Amino acid sequence: MKNSLRPLVKPSIDQYIFEKMVCFRAGGKIIEVDDENELVTSLLKKMNGKNTVEDLVSKVLAENSSTSQEEIFNVLNDMDEIKLIEDANITYQETLTEYDAVRWSRNINFFGAFCKINDNKYDYQKRLQETKVTLLGLGGLGTHIIYDLVALGVKDIVAVDFDKVELSNLNRQILYSESDIGKNKVVAAKERIEQFYKEHKVRFIEKKISSTEDVKELIRDRDIVICVADKPTMFIQKWLNEACVQENVPYIHGGIDVQRAIFCTVIPGVTGCTECWTKTVQDNDDFTYKLIEKDLSTDFSSLTPAPAIVTFVSVLAGNMLTDFLKLRTGIATPISLGKLIEIPFDTMQPNMAEEWEKHEDCPLCSAK
Ligand SMILES: [Zn+2]
Repeated sequence: MKNSLRPLVKPSIDQYIFEKMVCFRAGGKIIEVDDENELVTSLLKKMNGKNTVEDLVSKVLAENSSTSQEEIFNVLNDMDEIKLIEDANITYQETLTEYDAVRWSRNINFFGAFCKINDNKYDYQKRLQETKVTLLGLGGLGTHIIYDLVALGVKDIVAVDFDKVELSNLNRQILYSESDIGKNKVVAAKERIEQFYKEHKVRFIEKKISSTEDVKELIRDRDIVICVADKPTMFIQKWLNEACVQENVPYIHGGIDVQRAIFCTVIPGVTGCTECWTKTVQDNDDFTYKLIEKDLSTDFSSLTPAPAIVTFVSVLAGNMLTDFLKLRTGIATPISLGKLIEIPFDTMQPNMAEEWEKHEDCPLCSAK
């Protein structure tokens, strides 16, 4: 550990000092440390963000002659290993504006919980802020997702929809109000997002997607696509997948299927795509493959709108965005990479419904 660091217990961690014992509480875990010679206690009392490692060593040695420099370094390294401390030298100024550092301070300390002492927690926020997202659909899921994306600090968003706000949307489409009924969703959503964050850089595009080319135009050079558009039912998935694989843009796709929520994440060239899944089904499961073919030749547009309940919509939106967050920051592994995750309404426990690899005969992936 470098002498110039200024170790400080992270703001996300509670510390308790007892006689000859120290205890930390981090993320629901209790860490008990025997402190017979009170070395840890002595260190903790001096870790105020001002003392450097060098200062700490000399001050602790002056107070406690039974210890050694090596022992002090071991304690500091152990504390870093279990992610208890951060470096007070690392400040927001080189990474973020003061406004951003305050508005997103809770995010930043959340990211800090995943950091070791040499990591910069502000970089994670910056990475989010610089992510270029295309969001397809501003219905139930889309209104939750765009609000959460802006709340996370994502600035560069292209948001696409073609519908108008209807009274029956207001059970779950949280951006809209009674006074928006009859307005285009992109117009109403823009007004609402402007109230929430006046510096937003969301481009709202009114467009009905009707081909792979349409999707390509909206996603080219973006970092990631989140698709929660549900019309036309079967084709949107096909166009989304074709466009994203051909343009090499990862996507997260999700929807509500009455009593289950489903979502998956595809990274072209890394995970299988949904054509790979179709090929895998064709190899192994005749009946399901027949159903897929039937779906693709059926016009679902005249069916009554699918049921949807807001609590379930927000759970799915939260799950999809948690995977988005993991993917963009690298703080943890997304649960839906190359998998279809299903959340049944009765348990609310995400579980894996399908998993598939890249298929050698996939017309999209094998050409790459
Ligand atoms: Zn594929």
